[in-house]
Amino acid sequence: MALIVQKYGGTSVGSVERIQHVADKVLDYRRQGHDVVVVVSAMSGETDRLLGLARDINARPEGRELDVLLSTGEQVTIALLAMALEGRGCPARSYTGAQVHILTDSAHNKARIRDIDGARVRRDLADGRVVVVAGFQGVDEHGNITTLGRGGSDTTAVALAAALKADECQIYTDVDGVYTTDPRVAANARRLERITFEEMLEMASLGSKVLQIRAVEFAGKYNVPLRVLSSFQEGPGTLITFEEDGMEQALISGIAFNQNEAQVTILGVPDQPGVAWRILGPISDANIEVDMIVQNVGADGTTDFTFTVHRNDYDKALAILQGLPEKLHARQISGDPKIVKISLVGVGMRSHAGIASKMFEALAGEGINIRMISTSEIKISVVVDEKYLELGVRALHDAFELESPQQGR
Ligand code: ADP
Ligand code: ASP
Ligand code: MG
Repeated sequence: MALIVQKYGGTSVGSVERIQHVADKVLDYRRQGHDVVVVVSAMSGETDRLLGLARDINARPEGRELDVLLSTGEQVTIALLAMALEGRGCPARSYTGAQVHILTDSAHNKARIRDIDGARVRRDLADGRVVVVAGFQGVDEHGNITTLGRGGSDTTAVALAAALKADECQIYTDVDGVYTTDPRVAANARRLERITFEEMLEMASLGSKVLQIRAVEFAGKYNVPLRVLSSFQEGPGTLITFEEDGMEQALISGIAFNQNEAQVTILGVPDQPGVAWRILGPISDANIEVDMIVQNVGADGTTDFTFTVHRNDYDKALAILQGLPEKLHARQISGDPKIVKISLVGVGMRSHAGIASKMFEALAGEGINIRMISTSEIKISVVVDEKYLELGVRALHDAFELESPQQGR
């Protein structure tokens, strides 16, 4: 008998029929003698709908109140799933995040889990119940409801699995595993049998929303066996594992992309000490996260300074930098919110040269201009015009033959 934590995402609980289907799946595991804790998301589209309501009332809603609102989406699905299970004669109880003491910090809308008291869940399991927990939410030390950021139910599930020392954490979604890239963009994307935590972390942080990045971090830190599976079809899914010595690594495990970035450039900045600080200091003071930064080599004593931010922060960043060109004696500010970042990820890259040039060749072959490049040991990212997203991803997928399991070996 095992203890399994299962998480069902928005599409998987998107209608009454689908919730009934989830109840059937949970019951199957119960019948095999396993203890099951289920984490659910809000019904698909619900979190967006609630966000829309909030913005219709107040363009900048207060984080605390937004969390009170957003947490209701998951409260609906936990109750419905518990009812569906009870209707099948399976004892079940639903709990909000606060009720099972998912203690977080107070960073509303992007809170981090600090601690989970699993005692109540364990008592219910011992009494033969299925425990259904609301994903994406917790409570801070002052009793305020918090939420964990978009996609946060993945993190709830992994954190519960870690706290309960579960045998496996299963993330059920609308695709049957982690693919070499988003299968909605490249039809020939291939499901991976396994992917290392390190690669999955990189894929998640570079934009693959199949798992929230914190869920991957947590699973790696607490050694939680993590698997991504489909709610709609049977199959082994994808196992997230540690890199094993001597394991043959694919050169590239996947392609991630991020459509939420925007580019800001300050042209003709005097090439002097302190310039980067004077540009990025106020940006960071405003709590805006900067991703890529590129500064050209100065030719005529001036340089161009470019960085990227989340698209939601684009207007704010431009507003903050208003007036800076005059102060810095720079030429002007320009920006472009219509960019995307495409990244190649693979631990096999560490030991191979020539990946970057092959990547640039493939993009050049399609006439795609690269605006920015950034590299690390296991990834290469490029920023290109948004209109090249699909073309770029497909060209790279083909160039590195990712549809074939033998690629690069
Ligand atoms: P859920 O609501 O179940 O949490 P998400 O929409 O958050 O589901 O995540 C699943 C989606 O992630 C898929 O439908 C797919 O379009 C997208 N996705 C992006 N990159 C990948 C990838 N490499 N492998 C699989 N799915 C991916
Ligand atoms: N409902 C939340 C969202 O849409 C959390 C989740 O689904 O993981 O982001
Ligand atoms: Mg998700």
